[in-house]
Amino acid sequence: MRRIDVPACLAVLAFVLAGPCFAQMPLPTASATDRAEARAIFKELIEINTTDTPQGSVTAGSAAMQKRFLDAGFPAKDVNLLGPDVRKMNLVVRLRAAAPGTKKPVLFLCHMDVVQALRSDWHTDPFEFVEKDGYYYGRGTQDMKDSDAALVATFLRLHREGYRPKRDLILALTADEEGGKFNGADWLVRQHRDLVDAAWVINPDAGGVELDHGRAVVADVEATEKVYSDFQVTAVNPGGHSSRPRPDNAIYELTAALNKLAAYTFPFELNEVTRTYFKNLAGQETGQTAADLRAILATPPDMAAAARLGSEPSFNSNFRTTCVATMLKAGHAPNALAQTAQANVNCRIFPGHSPEEIRQRLIGIFGDAKLSVKYVSDSYVVSDTAPQRKAMVPPPPISEVFEPLTRITQAIWPGVPVTPVMENGASDSFYFAQAGIPCYGYSAIALERDDDRAHGQDERLPIDSYWKSLDFFYAYSKAVSGE
Ligand SMILES: [Zn+2]
Repeated sequence: MRRIDVPACLAVLAFVLAGPCFAQMPLPTASATDRAEARAIFKELIEINTTDTPQGSVTAGSAAMQKRFLDAGFPAKDVNLLGPDVRKMNLVVRLRAAAPGTKKPVLFLCHMDVVQALRSDWHTDPFEFVEKDGYYYGRGTQDMKDSDAALVATFLRLHREGYRPKRDLILALTADEEGGKFNGADWLVRQHRDLVDAAWVINPDAGGVELDHGRAVVADVEATEKVYSDFQVTAVNPGGHSSRPRPDNAIYELTAALNKLAAYTFPFELNEVTRTYFKNLAGQETGQTAADLRAILATPPDMAAAARLGSEPSFNSNFRTTCVATMLKAGHAPNALAQTAQANVNCRIFPGHSPEEIRQRLIGIFGDAKLSVKYVSDSYVVSDTAPQRKAMVPPPPISEVFEPLTRITQAIWPGVPVTPVMENGASDSFYFAQAGIPCYGYSAIALERDDDRAHGQDERLPIDSYWKSLDFFYAYSKAVSGE
């Protein structure tokens, strides 16, 4: 299958239903013992504070999981605790193939850190694992200790059952995705490529099953994401007394430039992922929106339809690079001409373009050689030029990844369409994609559309969603590493 579009989904489903029919057979569900262990791991992880604060330690979480793997009999050489900082150690676990094979491993990438949560903001203690009304409560129950725990439990179960995969399976539990100076995904792929090299990455930090009043509506798989970049735009001026204004003025020069940006629209673009996404969406929408979605997929795309859809910010940001002024500062006294006027321009860059290319574009839009346009890195270092590296243009969804993902998802949630999507945000997939390893964001976690509590108060996960993700990862791990 070249990519998951509607006909392809139907074809897969038809094949599955006609064949010896995995989909009709319920997936093997975890036993009571397996579930008890998976629950205990989840509880242990929630109750270890892994925030980037003086109270938090990712190492504590990694070390607790390391102990579980070693106690279970994993060889020490396949359970690596490593990192650049004593409180930010990552854990990389390898379930080794029965015999060295030709297929590269599959890696599951899971960040272990969580966003800070204050007891005073919550109804329960965020660092206590609380079971209530069919939910597990606690910081990280959605983002993403649910998946950390489900994958630890899956690896332990596969090992306990004596499963011998035909390719290595790797689990990387990493630091500082949410913030902090020691991003584990970045560090591992740069410093220990051999430990984390893979045919592809499944990152459960994105994607999942959307529920509407309990009904599974769609399973999103994040197949690409935009690149985040900040630019510092500065106008300078000798200044002087405000009673004697000069013809040149830092504030006016900067605001004139920003007004040009406000009037500018980056070119309309599609890639394999967004094309498929819009095509699937057109089948669910009605009226003008459905017609416009089909019209932008035509060759050439209908720009009037793109303009109509573009008035909706979420569509607009899904088919072009966007840059917007987000901060402004200028002047130093009410009665003085500003010597400096400065803006931050935040860009979300469509895959296939580099930050430097966008910096040059901004310079062109502003058309004022007196302005400087500098790049601001994630760690707030300002530089004259921006990185040349481009976010990878997504390949067509790989059948080896999507066929089992679709088949198993539809065995758990019958009939749910599986669609690749482009996220406007950014995750740790970025670092692996930069290194040329395809990444797919999928958690197999089913959540109500209006119950996203990641980073928020009273974060919770339906217990049933946890069990289903456990069944998914067990079946998927076997499917990609079996016959
Ligand atoms: Zn996350």
